Amino acid sequence: MAAESRRFRDPEEVSSELETAREIKEGFASRGLVGERAPGYFIRTFGCQQNEADSERLAGLCEAMGYSPVPVPEAAKLILVNTCAIREHAEKKALSIIGSFKHVKDADPDVVIGVGGCMAAEEHRANTLKMSYPYVDFVFEPASAYSLPSLVKDAARGRRRFVRESGDAIAEGIPTVRESSHSVWLSVMYGCNNFCSYCIVPYVRGRERSRRPDDIIEEAKRLVDGGAKNITLLGQNVNSYGKDSDGCCDIAELMRRICRIDGDFELRFMTSHPKDASDELIDAIAEEPKIVKHFHLPVQSGSDRILKLMNRHYDRERYLSVVDKLRARVPDVTLTSDIIVGFPGEEEEDFLDTLDLMRRVRYDMIFSFIYSPRVGTPAAKMEPRVPREVSAERMERLLALGTELSEERNSRFVGRTLRVLADGVSRTDPGMMTGRGSPARPVHFPGGEELTGKFVNVKIKSAGAFWVGGEIE
Ligand code: SF4
Repeated sequence: MAAESRRFRDPEEVSSELETAREIKEGFASRGLVGERAPGYFIRTFGCQQNEADSERLAGLCEAMGYSPVPVPEAAKLILVNTCAIREHAEKKALSIIGSFKHVKDADPDVVIGVGGCMAAEEHRANTLKMSYPYVDFVFEPASAYSLPSLVKDAARGRRRFVRESGDAIAEGIPTVRESSHSVWLSVMYGCNNFCSYCIVPYVRGRERSRRPDDIIEEAKRLVDGGAKNITLLGQNVNSYGKDSDGCCDIAELMRRICRIDGDFELRFMTSHPKDASDELIDAIAEEPKIVKHFHLPVQSGSDRILKLMNRHYDRERYLSVVDKLRARVPDVTLTSDIIVGFPGEEEEDFLDTLDLMRRVRYDMIFSFIYSPRVGTPAAKMEPRVPREVSAERMERLLALGTELSEERNSRFVGRTLRVLADGVSRTDPGMMTGRGSPARPVHFPGGEELTGKFVNVKIKSAGAFWVGGEIE
């Protein structure tokens, strides 16, 4: 029970924040600032799906305080930046955007500006924000997002706050405004215990904390009742869901239980760690029709020596054995992966091992990144660094192979009919829809807005490296 209470924030703390939100809203209402006159909020989100899901909770809190969404920061009274710390580039971009909001505050000193997310949880970045961005009213780490109402209330009274030590307990019961009603994120756990040597996540998002299965299933039911057709379970390492709580179910059982919910929907999950990819999870993917036959299994490198330096806790053999099991149980599975190029000490031979592993696995798609040192991680101190031009040249070769494999894999769909969830009208071609098929593929087909959020059967007629195309049957 003690561990359980440490894992979860006291519901009274959350209620008190929601009460503060209500007071703020009433304050706006008493000045007639409701409906079209309601003050605006603007959220800029960087980074991964976890951050997008966090921003949906921030939006829920903004609306509980009486703010309404606006499309541009200049129209907002509350501006939030939800940052990412995964790469130097993402941090620099966030700092530049935060810098650009100074003119909004100069024009209207009543505007409140807050910075959250992973970068905000890094001590050196929080200090930079404190010292060099005096117009930022508050900075909060991801686990403190629930306290947004009191941060806003203090900012309105002229009190700057920098929240970095509030613990990492899960706050249940936060209102959420989702970007889409048909395709939704559902966070099942937070944090990571793995300490991969290049990754900042365990330092900024804390240790693994799993939500209670009943809370997740209740939320999933509400989402399905509200029209959700695609639910993606989120966690930094969803495969270890439940390991931090005695008697809790694992990810395979959780997914099977969600699949029992009545309704026509599909279930996805991300992200997985190969060391925790269990036979039970593979069985669930094979047996449950609602689970999309897609496994994102980040390998990061094909070299045993580099995997050890990365502290990944598996080697090529173990990784390939998971892939073999998966392909044996789910022959049509779509397999995607993340790969880091130019990790410290990576030699040409190590890189060739990565290309070799890619050929062995024949990935449907890879997401590749040039190594970016993160202050505070062990890899940031590792030598020798791979020169930038060497990493760039390796990246070109890796992308060329990745594209070749994707084209080859996608060609297997030509002539087949895929069940596709129509996501929306293409941004570049208004006569075309984009959607996701099962097995997961971006699918393009002629259609209009009225199809958004519906399942359609698409006969695939063409395939490229990054999509397949066809027509509704
Ligand atoms: S598994 Fe490794 S790479 Fe993934 S979030 Fe955890 S520490 Fe980072």
